[in-house]
Amino acid sequence: MNIENIVKAKPKPDLLRKRLKNGGYRIEEDGLYKRCTTCRDYWPADSEFFFSSVSDTDGLNCYCKACYLERRYPNGRSLKQIRQSAKDNYNAGYLSAVAMMTR
Ligand SMILES: [Zn+2]
Repeated sequence: MNIENIVKAKPKPDLLRKRLKNGGYRIEEDGLYKRCTTCRDYWPADSEFFFSSVSDTDGLNCYCKACYLERRYPNGRSLKQIRQSAKDNYNAGYLSAVAMMTR
């Protein structure tokens, strides 16, 4: 994926404040993280980890790509290992796993 094409979440200031307070977002050293409403894990709030969406006010889906694909293809591969490898090495593990699923 071309790094320049990555879309970051763009919450308005009041939404950002609200979500930081209620746990919807988290600030880490390398930027803003968004909590997936399905797996409840935090992922970088950009289009590498969330599909972009017009329905969410920050421009990203409320669930991560893995959960989105799991909903869409409920009989697909187990995503447990995908999530684990994403945590261990999300740049390589998560993206290649998502690429494998979408092939
Ligand atoms: Zn998720």
